[in-house]
Amino acid sequence: MSASVIDFVATEARFGAHNYEPIGVVLSRGEGVWVWDTEGNRYLDCLSAYSAVSQGHCHPKILAAMVEQASRLTLTSRAFHNDQLALFYEEIAALTGSHKVLPMNSGAEAVESAIKSVRKWGYEVKGVPDGQAEIIVCADNFHGRTLGIVGFSTDPETRGHFGPFAPGFRIIPFGDAAALQEAITPNTVAFLVEPIQGEAGVVIPPAGYFTKVRELCTANNVMLVLDEIQTGLGRTGKLLAEQHEGIEADVTLLGKALSGGFYPVSAVLSNNEVLGTLRPGQHGSTFGGNPLACAVARAAMRVLVEEGMIENAARQGERFLSGLKDIRANTIREVRGRGLMLAIELQPEAGRARRYCEALQAKGILAKDTHEHTIRIAPPLVITSDQVDWALGRLATTLTQDLS
Ligand SMILES: *Cc1c(COP(=O)(O)O)cnc(C)c1O
Repeated sequence: MSASVIDFVATEARFGAHNYEPIGVVLSRGEGVWVWDTEGNRYLDCLSAYSAVSQGHCHPKILAAMVEQASRLTLTSRAFHNDQLALFYEEIAALTGSHKVLPMNSGAEAVESAIKSVRKWGYEVKGVPDGQAEIIVCADNFHGRTLGIVGFSTDPETRGHFGPFAPGFRIIPFGDAAALQEAITPNTVAFLVEPIQGEAGVVIPPAGYFTKVRELCTANNVMLVLDEIQTGLGRTGKLLAEQHEGIEADVTLLGKALSGGFYPVSAVLSNNEVLGTLRPGQHGSTFGGNPLACAVARAAMRVLVEEGMIENAARQGERFLSGLKDIRANTIREVRGRGLMLAIELQPEAGRARRYCEALQAKGILAKDTHEHTIRIAPPLVITSDQVDWALGRLATTLTQDLS
């Protein structure tokens, strides 16, 4: 490592809260699927900032939209109208088929906003007694890091010593429709769930699960809130992961790739009823819906569709998954994925996934471990067949090593 690399890492460690444990690479440039470190080494990005840079690093059309808008008008607050918000609404509604939109910034804020909105809907439309609303969530969920959200996490690291927490949540196993049926009461206002559990290690529910979930929610007048912050916008090979089961959520949450990684932009999308309960002064955000965010998101959605990234995710995802399945290595317990949301689960005796991620870094691939034994693979959706094959070759060599 050169002096400058040591300096960046040491300075971060000295001044920063140690709430991350980054791989030892200092990045300074990105383009498409590639990123470069301060020493000029090139890496294939197989994390894509947790799926936020699905459109590829520094996409030129999103960049142009951002620069153009930044030189014209960046922030008005919602105290005034701006000439980007209406266009953002129109385009995101047309893309996703939703009726109402609430713009926020981070993913966690979208989740919090959805929780507030479905509770309000529960009291004002469904008729739940005030203060009694219940929301059902799944074990091993990941919905963000705010207090409201970590309170219904089941991960001891995520919630430990951050309490006390807000009541009103019931936790059931993921992928178990019977458990949902049992957990619903007259006070249940919503079921909040990820279509595929990303942070839990790319956990895909059994086929038919969401069809049953949709039926149960409809039958019991419970809002189905799908957190598509990671799975949405093409990551799984469809615009929304709900399309794999042919269902429609009542509330859909988007974030991450909604800006192509340029700026924090998130959104709550709903039918008319849920967001329709919000009145002036009851919810807001200084930056939510600002013209810069809207211009960036509009460009990010446009390139996703115009450049065929969703179809490419489906095609390259299949190629990547079947290539991973062909790797014969004693270290691998299972490979799974949908579209370009993939995971390699290692045998417990193979050693920590982190070691393999470090070995992959040395071979020019950046990937991220999750939960000790799982390597997550989620490259930008613009990856080509040649690049997939290039990555597979390196993964095969790395995974056939014993790094325990
Ligand atoms: C990343 C993520 C969030 C939180 O988004 P932030 O922008 O980090 O607040 C919420 N839900 C899911 C499924 C995510 O993957």
